[in-house]
Amino acid sequence: MDTFALAELLFPHITETPEDIEARYPERNLPEGARVTRMAPSPTGFLHIGALFGAMTDERLAHLSGGVCCLRIEDTDAKREVPGAVGAFIRMFARYGIHFDEGASLDENGEVTDRGAYGPYRQRARAEIYQVFAKELVRRGRAYPCFCTEEDLAAMRERQEAAKVTPGYYGEWAVHRRSTFEEYRAMIEAGCPYVIRFKSEGDPSRRIKMTDGIKGALDFPENDQDIVLLKSDGIPTYHFAHVVDDHLMRTTHVVRGEEWLATLPAHIEMFRAFGWKEPKYNHTATIMKLDGASKRKISKRKDPEADLAWYAREGYPADAVREYVMTLLNSNFEDWRRDHADAPLEEFPFSLKKMSVSGALFDMQKLADVAKNVVCRMKAPEVYEQALAWAQEFRPDFAALLSRDPAYSTAILNIGREDKKPRRDYGVWSELPAYMSFFFDETFVPGGAYPACLSEEDIAAIFARFRETYDESDDSAAWFDKLKDIAASIGLAPDTKTFKKNPGVYRGHVGDVSMALRVAVTGRENSPDLYTVMKLLGRERTFARLGAAK
Ligand code: GLU
Repeated sequence: MDTFALAELLFPHITETPEDIEARYPERNLPEGARVTRMAPSPTGFLHIGALFGAMTDERLAHLSGGVCCLRIEDTDAKREVPGAVGAFIRMFARYGIHFDEGASLDENGEVTDRGAYGPYRQRARAEIYQVFAKELVRRGRAYPCFCTEEDLAAMRERQEAAKVTPGYYGEWAVHRRSTFEEYRAMIEAGCPYVIRFKSEGDPSRRIKMTDGIKGALDFPENDQDIVLLKSDGIPTYHFAHVVDDHLMRTTHVVRGEEWLATLPAHIEMFRAFGWKEPKYNHTATIMKLDGASKRKISKRKDPEADLAWYAREGYPADAVREYVMTLLNSNFEDWRRDHADAPLEEFPFSLKKMSVSGALFDMQKLADVAKNVVCRMKAPEVYEQALAWAQEFRPDFAALLSRDPAYSTAILNIGREDKKPRRDYGVWSELPAYMSFFFDETFVPGGAYPACLSEEDIAAIFARFRETYDESDDSAAWFDKLKDIAASIGLAPDTKTFKKNPGVYRGHVGDVSMALRVAVTGRENSPDLYTVMKLLGRERTFARLGAAK
């Protein structure tokens, strides 16, 4: 077979050679040990939470080693591409502090563009590059056209199932593998659509041994499938694009989901067919969640939390999600965080060796807890700023309230924040409208139960005395002494100790006085420190609430 003639027949428009291309993608000039990684999402929908695991791993590996992290867009499936997805992905990664040195990025008008010397970074724009290398494989007798239709392949699969043999396009089953040049030419001249397939020389009775950066030692049969390199439109499959791009972009470390382990033997065979050094592979465990007592994958269909955009909508601070993902990525992160409470995440010595080999378990409860810790470490102005940014995007009504008097809102958000043991009331911005509702007359809802031990007259008397004696300049101790006086004046115990020591003597105690005030002023039985709440609301609003209370 004249493979050179076949290559010309298939790729008459390709005049560049692999050497021409190689010259455009030279070895990178990086210090010893620097790692080149890439995040390679397909813009076919939303970003899965798993993408953040991958992106953070890529980013940390690259930047902790003085290397380079690229964003490559795997848009080879044009039919499934979602308009606007690339821009949305770029913004989403930025939100989580993933800095890409190269790749798809946004220009000043928010349009997607390329940045860096190893582009284009969108695969459809690289079509001819793949074709140069496919042509080369045809020339070397390692690729050929296949004219099988969907129906042909389905019929073949049925025969394979009936014969109980491995399904696929390989060996004896690879019908177009042994066609003659004349046969290929006749089909092409007849206008039959075709794909380009790899001609595998692997033998599954032989095994490949390799070391995965996460999974450790791997040992699997060689590939013998003649996988598709180029689809009938001349666009590569993931497999071929991965090999060509990661070679040309000089990727040193591939981090990707473990679902790619099955086709890893084919990828390795392709690297070897070109005589290229393969990157270090790092296959990450699938993220699981508990569903009842059993574990399962986080599913795009069933779980809203599968979508990375969901966390932003819910108002999880980006840092909280990052921190939580890091606890799942590296098992020693939590210990490190305990010892370095205020250090930026970037100082953590992230390591592939600490990555989980089997499925990481995503735990929303734990995330909520981490979020509370993260928000607890923030200063009030930062809380205000982030909460407002969230509200402006997702709760404009709440944003209007928050921003009406920024000093007031910030003071509310500061409640308990400077205590020795700061309060951990909320970790997610969407908790704030409810948490803060009673501070705004527009959202205050009367409610809560008055202490059963108090009669209506008691409550009326408490409110009346309180109005007579309340002084906004009192400190919290003086304020509380006045509540004790009020308690005594209507025959309640001034404190719980007295109350308990004299069973049957008192019908209630000072706590019931403050509860009555709390219910009237906040509409609930639990609230942050009532003294502080009243100071923030101010005398007028506090008295108005008491007046309106029944
Ligand atoms: N586009 C592939 C995916 O989304 C990328 C896998 C890889 O990182 O190589 O799964």
